[in-house]
Amino acid sequence: MKVITRFPPSPTGNLHIGSVRTALFNYLFARHHGGKIHLRFENTDEERSKREYEQNILDSLSWLGLTFDPICDKQYWRQSERKEIYRTYLKKLVDTGKAYVSKESATTLESSSPDPLPHRLSVSRRARERGAEGKRRDEVIRFKNPNKKISFEDLIRGHIEFDTTELGDMVIAKSLEEPLYHLAVVIDDSEMDITHVLRGEDHISNTPRQILLQEALGLARPAYAHIPLILAPDRSKLSKRHGAVSVTEYRDRGYLKEALLNYLALLGWNPGSDREIFSLAELVQVFDLSKVQKGGAIFNEEKLRWINKEYLRRVDPKEFVRHIPESLLAGKTDIQRESISEMLFDRVSVYGDMQTGLDSGEFEYLSRDPTYEKELLRWKKSGESPTLHLEAVRSLLENLPAASFRKSRLKEVIFPYAEEKGKGNVLWPMRVALSGRAESPDPFALAAMLGKEVTLRRLSHALNSLR
Ligand code: GLU
Repeated sequence: MKVITRFPPSPTGNLHIGSVRTALFNYLFARHHGGKIHLRFENTDEERSKREYEQNILDSLSWLGLTFDPICDKQYWRQSERKEIYRTYLKKLVDTGKAYVSKESATTLESSSPDPLPHRLSVSRRARERGAEGKRRDEVIRFKNPNKKISFEDLIRGHIEFDTTELGDMVIAKSLEEPLYHLAVVIDDSEMDITHVLRGEDHISNTPRQILLQEALGLARPAYAHIPLILAPDRSKLSKRHGAVSVTEYRDRGYLKEALLNYLALLGWNPGSDREIFSLAELVQVFDLSKVQKGGAIFNEEKLRWINKEYLRRVDPKEFVRHIPESLLAGKTDIQRESISEMLFDRVSVYGDMQTGLDSGEFEYLSRDPTYEKELLRWKKSGESPTLHLEAVRSLLENLPAASFRKSRLKEVIFPYAEEKGKGNVLWPMRVALSGRAESPDPFALAAMLGKEVTLRRLSHALNSLR
């Protein structure tokens, strides 16, 4: 099967999680079939399109490793550079009577919406992309609606039928030099030889308009597949108010690109098994459009974090260390640094968690002797005074050389005593003495991270406070 897909973002904002999932599906589908995928910037809305957004989109795609096939010696197309081409097509439509220059009073242009089909989620976006609103024009180019039924077989949603009579004579260009969105899409899809249009379901009601234009221009119709939207947990459309939505925000918060791609692939698609972890190459192998669901896909940040953790586990510890905020390691010995890295490697799901933990004071015990109520030293289930056990721990550790302050060795030294006296009785006060907290890494890890000198000092301090 010949497959050529496309990813045509409008550069009116940073690359959104929802758009990149669409890009990914197009990429997987094309690569799975040994086909091609092209990139183009749809910037017919010149006021809202910005070069900085194009750059953000390019940076995001290249960070993720999604590659596109060049076309006519270009890495991507930009619609604003193709006006001559659109003009030729437009002129053909006008010359053959399929479109006409329409004199408008400012009021008729604004009230005769070319877009009356009800579609809850896309109205405002289409209004924006049409770009016709709000501008006072004496003249526009309208498409002479043949008033017919258009139907197509959506590869995900099945048979879809629209009566286009309701559309009226839609505005397709502001002038011969200023085509609007639908016309440019149809021409570019044809010139790129696109075989499959995979896009968000908010574009469903655009499809009959585009098919009408294709038919008028005598262009081939690609296959269509409208993929479900990504929804926030409250089932509303995913937006800024739900937190991060741009790919670069996720990158900057320390998510791994492999995890983000893996997670996005599972939003609305499933491999037909319970398996959840797939590299990009594996996704290419198994991707199958027939397993894309119809219903909206809920964005679940916890699931994304879980997948990120799965990938983080495979990261080389040396690479991991490079992401640790310097202040967590400053002034520590090599053994301490290793112990701190190990603890972080265990506890962190996303690199950014380390900075978050630092900001919230979670790791304060690493740099400052803790303060706490001495009652906290007493393990809740026991009436026993912790003094005896803290003294025992201190003397066990006093005899251990600083170079042996590693988690495993510390455990060997203290655990037998703890097992004999009751683990809670011994390990609880040790944890509190070292961290000041009821929740923290285990006391062996704490002692290893703090080093011999600080560990002994904090144990003595706890003993003094009990006296
Ligand atoms: N420029 C449109 C968008 O960003 C693409 C629509 C399409 O895929 O045809 O949503």
